[in-house]
Amino acid sequence: MTEKYLAQPDLDFIAQLRELGGETLKKCYQCATCSVACPIAPEDSPFPRKEMIAASWGLKDRLIKNGDIWLCHQCGDCTDLCPRGAAPGDVLSAVRSAAITEYATPKVFANAVNDPKKLPFVIGIPALWFALLAFITTQMGGTMEKIFHAVFGDFLGGRLHWSHSPEVAEGAEKIIAHADFVSTWFVDLTFVPTAIFVTVVFFLGLKNFLNDIHENAVLEGKTDKTTLDYKAFFQALVRIIPTVLKHDKFNECEANKDRATPHMMVLYSFIGLFIVTAVCGIMLYVFKNAGPYPQWNPIKWLANIAGVALVIGSGMMIKSRLDKGKNQLTAYKDWFILGVVFALGLTGMLSEMTRLAKMEYITYFMYYLHLISIFLLFFFLPYSKMAHLVYRLTAMAYAEYGNRK
Ligand code: SF4
Ligand code: SF4
Repeated sequence: MTEKYLAQPDLDFIAQLRELGGETLKKCYQCATCSVACPIAPEDSPFPRKEMIAASWGLKDRLIKNGDIWLCHQCGDCTDLCPRGAAPGDVLSAVRSAAITEYATPKVFANAVNDPKKLPFVIGIPALWFALLAFITTQMGGTMEKIFHAVFGDFLGGRLHWSHSPEVAEGAEKIIAHADFVSTWFVDLTFVPTAIFVTVVFFLGLKNFLNDIHENAVLEGKTDKTTLDYKAFFQALVRIIPTVLKHDKFNECEANKDRATPHMMVLYSFIGLFIVTAVCGIMLYVFKNAGPYPQWNPIKWLANIAGVALVIGSGMMIKSRLDKGKNQLTAYKDWFILGVVFALGLTGMLSEMTRLAKMEYITYFMYYLHLISIFLLFFFLPYSKMAHLVYRLTAMAYAEYGNRK
């Protein structure tokens, strides 16, 4: 007997996809050219044609819980070949954005980051926060020193101090240090809780996500696994790391093959900056060396190389989007994250260059903008397009684990 499936279109979901850059979704007439053209789609139950049916019907559950939407690398081959201009690559990108919103909690942050009208708040709140921290650091150093001493006293043998200003020999030239503008303690007291918050949001989201994509894969016959074995899943995750680092999937595409290089530059620069941050933290709290470090120091080399790669990589991504114009839809969510990543790299480099040029107030201002950029990237990680790093990695690991063919 034929199995019946009652389709219940979710009109709000269709509207959401349109707002997120999938406005062409209704143009599809199911010719399947896209699924044939996609270099990444598996042989069994390939995408994106079936996702286009689900999108035009507003079948939210079928799409959000579908791990296949994350296997797509938005290369654009299907969009180029679609005879109806339905831009399936862009529709899948919109579905991924909707999925990020769905799995992130609380939703208010996801809605804020996807809504251009909320941009003044999204930028304004961290801007006010860091302005307050800069005011306290620059104007109330004495008071903070007293508070710090009263709270920590002789803790760790009195080795903890409020100020991380570099020591200057008498008569020597003043060393410009960003810690004199916003205290390192304040920076850490902002970003350590942010990191914990982001980790918890991702953990909660990924738990549901993994269960959902497994349930969907079983339902649609895309896996030979009936249960989720976390140990085997983790082993699959380790196996796909080289594929991710080499960007092999990007290289299978044709239309947007040029995206592989800037994408890889941004990925590696983030890895480099992560190492730099970790080393600087150890140097500060374990070895009591707050910097600034001399230019010959290897950690400076890594920071500078990663910073330049971030600016060039994100700049190339922006240029590529501008060049493609109407041939590739760029939604607000894309511009937001591209802008933040570019601003992060640029302000980081400029704050360093102006510090070396001894332009004290300009370097402080650049550092202020840099802190805002870091916050925007970091705090909104589970809510912005940047979350695709985590969800795609999980979906790719699941495809490996589930023997998706
Ligand atoms: S999205 Fe385009 S290529 Fe794919 S099935 Fe629809 S009309 Fe055909
Ligand atoms: S954008 Fe590329 S990877 Fe994604 S479905 Fe289309 S052809 Fe496949």
